[in-house]
Amino acid sequence: MKTRRQFIKISAAGAGAAAIGLHALDVKGLSILGKDSGYGPASDEELTPYPTYCEVCFWKCAAWAYVDKRGRIRKVIGNEDDPHCNGRLCPRGTGGVGMYYDEDRLKHPLIRETRPDGSPYFRKASWDEALDLMAEKMNKLRMEHGPECLALFSHGTGGKMISHLVKAFGSPNISAPSFAQCRGPREVGFTATFGEDVMSPERTDIRDTKCLVLIGSHIGENMHNGQIQEMSHAIENGATIITVDPRFSTAASHSKYWLPIKPATDIALLLAWIHVIIYENLYDKDYVQKYTYGFEELKEHVKNNTPEWAYGITTIEPEVIRRTAREMAAAAPATLVHPGRHTTWYGDDTQRSRAIAILNAILGSWGRRGGFYNPEKVHLPSYPHPPFPKPKRSWKDAYPPEKYNLVTEVLSTGICDATIPNPDLDCHLRGWIVYGTNLMASLPDQQKTLEAISHLDFLVVIDTMPMDITGYADIVLPECTYLERYDMLRTSPHREPVLALRMPAAKPKYDTKPNWWIAKQLAKRLGLEEYFAWNNIEELLDWQLKKIGSSLEEMKRVGVKKFKREYDDLFFLEGLPDYEFNTNTGKIELYSTSLEYEGHDPLPKYTPHPEPPEGYYRLNYGRAPMHTFSRTTNNHNLYDLMSENSVWINPKVADLWEIKNGQYIWLKNQDGIISSFPVKVRVTERIRWDSVYMVHGFGHTDKKLTRAFGRGASDSELVTKVAIDPVMGGTGMRVNFVTFIKENPRRKREEVES
Ligand code: SF4
Repeated sequence: MKTRRQFIKISAAGAGAAAIGLHALDVKGLSILGKDSGYGPASDEELTPYPTYCEVCFWKCAAWAYVDKRGRIRKVIGNEDDPHCNGRLCPRGTGGVGMYYDEDRLKHPLIRETRPDGSPYFRKASWDEALDLMAEKMNKLRMEHGPECLALFSHGTGGKMISHLVKAFGSPNISAPSFAQCRGPREVGFTATFGEDVMSPERTDIRDTKCLVLIGSHIGENMHNGQIQEMSHAIENGATIITVDPRFSTAASHSKYWLPIKPATDIALLLAWIHVIIYENLYDKDYVQKYTYGFEELKEHVKNNTPEWAYGITTIEPEVIRRTAREMAAAAPATLVHPGRHTTWYGDDTQRSRAIAILNAILGSWGRRGGFYNPEKVHLPSYPHPPFPKPKRSWKDAYPPEKYNLVTEVLSTGICDATIPNPDLDCHLRGWIVYGTNLMASLPDQQKTLEAISHLDFLVVIDTMPMDITGYADIVLPECTYLERYDMLRTSPHREPVLALRMPAAKPKYDTKPNWWIAKQLAKRLGLEEYFAWNNIEELLDWQLKKIGSSLEEMKRVGVKKFKREYDDLFFLEGLPDYEFNTNTGKIELYSTSLEYEGHDPLPKYTPHPEPPEGYYRLNYGRAPMHTFSRTTNNHNLYDLMSENSVWINPKVADLWEIKNGQYIWLKNQDGIISSFPVKVRVTERIRWDSVYMVHGFGHTDKKLTRAFGRGASDSELVTKVAIDPVMGGTGMRVNFVTFIKENPRRKREEVES
C-alpha cells in the first residue's frame, strides 16, 4: 500500500525514556493511590464538596467531589437532586477518581519524531511548541486544500469546545463513533416513525411501565444509572420483564420470560409479535386510528408472519411468542419495547429499529405513561460569535448524492471513506483531530482505519490517557481529567429541564490542560479569536447562566438546578386528538413515506443473514457494569473489580473442543485474524451453543497502559467484517465468527521461523 506518511504506531519501546519512567513510577504510583485516592479516614466536616458531573460514561450523573484540606480528592458521590442518578453513582462513577490518580496518564504534550534509522518516537514538548505546530499544520491544510479537509472524531463533553473550533475553522466533518457504531439506526428508525428520536438519556418511562421488553438491551450490564434505578422500581411494582437475548444476561435473570433467540433473527420475532397483536385484535384501536398512518398496509404486510413461521427462524416456540405478545397487549399502553442503545448488529438495523417503533406504536405507548415521555431541556444561549463559515465540501462527497439522505449525524466510518483518496474526487480529508475516543477500539475494521490514517498529513490526539490510537499521532495533547476542569453545563433532556455544573475539584496534575483552554489557544493561533471572545470559561458559564436567571455562584453552591417545564404535557398524547407528528403525513408512520421516498422498504422485512461456518461461532460482545468501553480498563479502582474479560462458551461446545473452564485460548475470526492476547474461557449454560460472548474494551496493545496492556482479548480486533446499513451507513458488527486456538499460535510461528 502506497502511503503519504510514516504512520507506524509508536509503542512503549518507541517512547524511549518516557516509557521506562512510567513503568518505574507505577509501583510508586500504586502506593500513593492507596493513601490519596479517598479510602483513608476523613470525616465529611473535614472535606469540601465541589460540584461535578461524571464523565466515566455518557449518562453524566451529577456528583460532588470531596476534597480534603491538602487538596486531595477523597471521594465522589452522587448529587441527590439529579434525576440522572438520584444521589447514587454506579461503581464506575464512584471509582472514577482512579482516572485522576492514574500514573499512566498522559502527562505532557508529545511530538512524533523520526530517528536517523527511520524509526519513530515521541519527544516531550512544551504546550507552546505543540500548539504552534498543530496550528501550522492546520493553516497549511487550510491554504493548500481548504478547511473542509479537516475532520474531528469526538466523544464526551469536552469535545464540544473542539467542535466549536472546527466549525469556526470551516469544516463540517465532526463525528462521534456513538452514531454509526452505536445508536444511529434507532435514531433514524424512530425518527422515520414518530418524527422524533429517542434522545439521551432515553425518553423511556421505565419507572411507570407495567411491561418492559428488552431486545439485546442489557440494562444492568450497561450501567445506565437512571434506567437501572427505574427498572428496579418497575420490578418492585410488579412489572413484567421480557428479555430477548441469545445470552442469559443480568436483565434476563430478572425477567419473567427469557427468549434465547437465535442470533440475527430478531426482525422475524418482532414481525410475529406485530402479527399476533394485530390479528388477535389486541392493538390500541383508538390510538392507531387517531395517530397512525399505514395500518392496513402493515396488517397486510405481516399477514404471513405467524408465530409458526417465526419459530422456524428464531427457535422461539409459537406459544411463547403468543403468550409474550398477549402480556404486552394486556399492559398497554404502559408497555415499553425498549429501543436499545447499541443497535448496529446485522446491517438491517434501521429496519429492526423500525419494527420496534411500530410495535410500540400499535400498543399505543409513544407519548403515554409507562411508555415514552416528552422530555425537555434547558436552552442556553450561545456566547456571541460571528457566523460559522459555510463549508464548500463535506465527508458526504465520498458517496453518491442519493446515499444516506436520512442520516442525521456525520458517519465516523464515512470520515474514513472520505480520507482514503478516490479517483472521482479531487480531494480527500487530510487532517484528523481525535478527541477522547480510542478509534482503534471504537471503529470496526482496524485495517481500514489504518489505511485512512496512512493518507493523512497529520493526526492529533487529545486525551487523558495513552490509548491504542495515541501511538499513531503526530501530536499528542494531554487533557486534564473531568475532576480537574470546568466544562460546558450539562443540559441533557429529562422529565424536568435540569442543569448540572462541572467545576475543578483539584488543580490539573502534571502538564495537562482543559479542552476549553486548548481550543482557545488554537483559535488565537488560527486567527479565530472572535469565536472565543470570552476571557475564560468561568466568564462564559456565568454569562450563559445569568441569561436564564441563575449564576455561576449559585451553581457552585447547588451543582444541579431544575427549571419549570415549558409544556406541562409529560405524556403528551393523553387527550390530544390533533397532535401533529413531525413526519411527512403528520402521523406516526407505520408505513414510512420517507424510507419509501429514499428507495428503502417502507415496512420492515426479515432477511436471513449468513450463518457461522462449520467450527465457528458468532461473536457477540457487550458491556460490564464496572467498565466503559476501552477507556476504564486501566483505572486501578475498576481494574481491581474486573481486570480482564473472558469468553463465554456453551458447555456442549467446550466438551466438543475439550476446552476447560478457566483455560486460556486464542480466538481466530473468519478472516484469519487471531486475537493479540489469550482470553480466559468461561464455560456456561448462559450462552447458546452457536455463539460466544465477551465484554468489549479489553486486550489493549499499548504498553504504556501498565495495568490494562495484554489483559484479555479485544473484540474490536476480531471485527474485521461489517454489514453496512443501507439506510444510514451504520456498521453492523455482529456478523463476525470465531473459532478457538488452544496453543499459542505465535510461539508456533516463532519456532517455525527460527
Ligand atoms: Fe458515571 Fe456511572 Fe453515571 Fe455513567 S452511570 S455517568 S459511569 S455514575
